[in-house]
Amino acid sequence: MKSEHKCCSRIGPFYSKRICGKTAKFEHEGKHYCGLHHPPAVKDRKAKRDEEWSRQYEARRSQEQAAERIRLDKEFRAASYPELLAHLQNVLNAWDSVCSGKGWEPDHLVQMRDARAALRRMTGSA
Ligand SMILES: [Zn+2]
Repeated sequence: MKSEHKCCSRIGPFYSKRICGKTAKFEHEGKHYCGLHHPPAVKDRKAKRDEEWSRQYEARRSQEQAAERIRLDKEFRAASYPELLAHLQNVLNAWDSVCSGKGWEPDHLVQMRDARAALRRMTGSA
């Protein structure tokens, strides 16, 4: 039996709305709709679209956060470089002193302690 009802959905841009008029396949709350404009189908498509947008948004946000972590890490390393060079120089000076037979000087021990503290602060180890 062919439906004699037509889809009552209003479609098109706001300035030229028109009635869909396709043969209705569904009835919803007393009105008739084609498969495309049946309100539950419209709602399902919107939910899927929203879910996909949300997934894409989260993926993009996650990528941006990872990029920001990398940027901050590079910034931290660059800022730490001069201090690390200074500690390395102090450690080598102390090593040279020990190797040349002059032995440990009090400053060397303080510098070694400072170098170790800096390394611990920067890496969480040492
Ligand atoms: Zn329709």
